[in-house]
Amino acid sequence: IVEFRGVWKRFGELDVLKDINLSVRRGEVVVIIGPSGAGKSTLCRTINRLETIDKGSILVDGKPQPIEGKELYEFRAGIGMVFQSFNLFSHKSILENVTLAPRKIRGRDKASAQADAYRLLDMVGIRSKANSMPAQLSGGQRQRAAIARALAMDPKVILFDEPTSALDPESTQEVLATMQQLARQGTTMIVVTHEMSFAKSCADRVVFMADGAIVETANPETFFSAPESERARSFLASVR
Ligand code: ATP
Ligand code: MG
Repeated sequence: IVEFRGVWKRFGELDVLKDINLSVRRGEVVVIIGPSGAGKSTLCRTINRLETIDKGSILVDGKPQPIEGKELYEFRAGIGMVFQSFNLFSHKSILENVTLAPRKIRGRDKASAQADAYRLLDMVGIRSKANSMPAQLSGGQRQRAAIARALAMDPKVILFDEPTSALDPESTQEVLATMQQLARQGTTMIVVTHEMSFAKSCADRVVFMADGAIVETANPETFFSAPESERARSFLASVR
């Protein structure tokens, strides 16, 4: 559903993505790991064209990405994104956060958008917070609200960029449990994380990046027990 073909990206003098070839199938959970500066966030951001690329192409659902205007706006709306922080509109309630895009972009009526939102908030375990403001929620609850908001658009794929790295251990576990549940339901997910436990239990494939390149792609059993590259071995030794 997402296909990178020979993608290059340069910031100034630095090649941040070097000949990226990667294809993510529907229902697949791909976990991207690697050291800081490897290009993981940049790779995620190129998928919905928050970053442009210099060479190669990215197909989403078999089609090239729209370049601008209404097409780009609608294209982005079909890709969920959950970042480390700053996910929610702080001046809107949780319920409004979840219903905003379905109503504005998809033209859903209020009642049906709200019914969907309650179902999703229930699923991520924060239905009782529907009428709270983001500031009244814990970090883990906020991230789960962000996940509900992404799901409300029925996205083709959800991109997670270190969704738990700003959270305390307990909130981290809450968010990982929600992500695990999504993975089991067959949601297509591309996840950048330092949580190796999530990669081990949920990934269909692990992609290891370093210095802008994909160094190694493997199933988690193989990757964690017998990584091929020296670079991956030293990375794993540093996070264990
Ligand atoms: P981390 O684990 O720290 O989040 P990352 O793998 O997500 O790292 P990226 O954020 O993708 O890494 O950055 C890759 C490289 O691109 C880094 O060297 C970074 O300094 C550089 N970079 C990222 N964004 C920009 C930008 N807007 N302008 C210039 N350089 C950038
Ligand atoms: Mg990053």
